[in-house]
Amino acid sequence: ADWAAAVAAVRDLTPDSRVLLICHVNPDGDALGSMLGFAFGLRRLGVRHLQTTFPGPPEVPEPLRGLPGLDLLVPADEAWLDPDLVICFDAASASRLGTLAGRLDRVGTTTVVLDHHASNTRFGGINVIDPAAAATSVVAEELLARLGVPLDAEIAECLYVALATDTGSFRFAMTTPAVHEMAARLLATGIRPGEISRRIFDTRPFGAIRLYGDVLSRVQLAPDAACGLGLVWTYATLDDLTRHGQRPYVLEPLIDSVRCAAEADVSCVVKQIAEDEWAVSMRSKGGVDVSQVAVVLGGGGHRFAAGFTGRGSATEVVDAIRDELDRAVVPTEDQR
Ligand code: 5GP
Ligand code: MN
Ligand code: MN
Repeated sequence: ADWAAAVAAVRDLTPDSRVLLICHVNPDGDALGSMLGFAFGLRRLGVRHLQTTFPGPPEVPEPLRGLPGLDLLVPADEAWLDPDLVICFDAASASRLGTLAGRLDRVGTTTVVLDHHASNTRFGGINVIDPAAAATSVVAEELLARLGVPLDAEIAECLYVALATDTGSFRFAMTTPAVHEMAARLLATGIRPGEISRRIFDTRPFGAIRLYGDVLSRVQLAPDAACGLGLVWTYATLDDLTRHGQRPYVLEPLIDSVRCAAEADVSCVVKQIAEDEWAVSMRSKGGVDVSQVAVVLGGGGHRFAAGFTGRGSATEVVDAIRDELDRAVVPTEDQR
């Protein structure tokens, strides 16, 4: 990882420099949290001209609207075309940046990519990629430390939301001692983890609970899929959202209920985003590298959490996943 180059790029900034911070489409807690936390850090270093943005509609999911620093957010089409520095958060490839991808090629602008996806394509001029990091906010905190920026409550709240999101509230396998040590440093600034967690993870509109009922009632188990490892899946349509008056973000926690099924190693939720277009969330308990499956189907992600955009009907999308799973899993002797 180009730590020294990233530190130098930030140190080279002057009070007049304009810095554009960007993150991936449909931003999650890690994308927004690491981006906004780092923006506060740059402010502490005296950078006065800051914009943060992400591609697509400039809509922040309701649970993340309490994040400090959202006033720095501008719609993608209003962001500077010629900033002095671009810093990109939590995006494994330029394709995750939609219309903002073009900014990265502009002559004279350096792009620093901060990320933790093993599949990162190193599309920046300076790439600080740590696949061992539990979240991009781990990389962001380390870079702030190397820049000599002390943590304060605003930086910490953003980085904590990011860390808690990507570790599944400190439950997933990459929750190392270093992760807990970072969480301890963040909490030492006085932020309130109970309030933050309630806001981010445990507050949804009543209509969302009814919607979960509908979507979970359609859950299906295919024990023979993935060469016998099993697949559990469900889907949500645009009509489901309309009927219950809900925004798409409310569907995100559903994968955590679906993946509980003991009979399946792989789980997925197929979420309609247009007539023939579905955003797919995939999880694995360890038997399958779902990022490989996602990459073949045009997406990406991590070994045990990945996604892609599927086309056709929900059943066609799931059939495509099943085909790829059977290809990705090498059957063991007794499964053959
Ligand atoms: P989620 O299921 O939480 O939306 O996504 C899980 C992980 O899969 C994300 O951290 C991200 O790395 C990856 N991912 C999800 N959707 C896509 C997609 O459409 N394209 C790519 N390249 N990666 C995705
Ligand atoms: Mn993310
Ligand atoms: Mn992440």
